[in-house]
Amino acid sequence: MVYFTSEKLTNRITRIRDILGTCLYLVEGDEKACLLDTGDGYGNLKEYVETLTHKPVFVVLTHGHLDHVGGACFFDEVYMNSKDQAVYDEHSTVEFRYHRNQEKWPNIAEIPREEYNPPYEGELRELHDGQIFDLGHCHIEMIGVPGHTQGMMCALIQEERYIVFGDACGVFVLLHNDQSSNVSEYRKSLVRLKTYEDRYDYIIRNHGTGQSPKELLDNVIECCDAILNGTADNVEIEFAGEKLLLCKAVDGKNGRLDGKEGNIAYKKEKGI
Ligand SMILES: [Zn+2]
Repeated sequence: MVYFTSEKLTNRITRIRDILGTCLYLVEGDEKACLLDTGDGYGNLKEYVETLTHKPVFVVLTHGHLDHVGGACFFDEVYMNSKDQAVYDEHSTVEFRYHRNQEKWPNIAEIPREEYNPPYEGELRELHDGQIFDLGHCHIEMIGVPGHTQGMMCALIQEERYIVFGDACGVFVLLHNDQSSNVSEYRKSLVRLKTYEDRYDYIIRNHGTGQSPKELLDNVIECCDAILNGTADNVEIEFAGEKLLLCKAVDGKNGRLDGKEGNIAYKKEKGI
């Protein structure tokens, strides 16, 4: 079974896609390499990464959700913002991932339970806003963007002028459960993220096409404004058992009817 594929985005950045299509990013400096996220947790990620680099690799988890933490068990040095510890504790177990994936991805039933990677057993090292990792002539700066989860972090790859938005801001931002912010709080995070805008040229993400034009951030801020001022389309949808409102109406392929990229699904009961 082919668990991973990859493509080089720059000399220093490689996008790895796992078997469910989730993207992870390997960033290589002159001295070491950083793996941003570890995907859904099938296949030996470390062996695959070693086919791409011979440098020592450490892991940064952008947040605690199951589709980002699944392959962390293969590595010795793993960072995550401790505000996501409770999310991580729930999402990293084989039990949780198995049941969630059976519901969301029926075809994954072909992967036997024994092939699910176990959770990472070591201590998670603290990851915080403003933290900078020096990989050798290549620096990654972490930016806290609470919203999707409270410990959600974006990664600015400084010299490359790339930013990994992860699940913090995208085509379909989920503010869907107890660990998510309401829309007003989330908007504050995005306005702060915008202060970094002159330091990157490319936005990369973990799902779908894996990339977006720079307008994405403004478009998602506009979505917040539409929800807050009562002009959102508010289409009712269901995700992982939660009833949510989708800010902007979409066509069958989840593209916005107005052609712009960026959307928010939020839970009405949380208030705005
Ligand atoms: Zn997530």
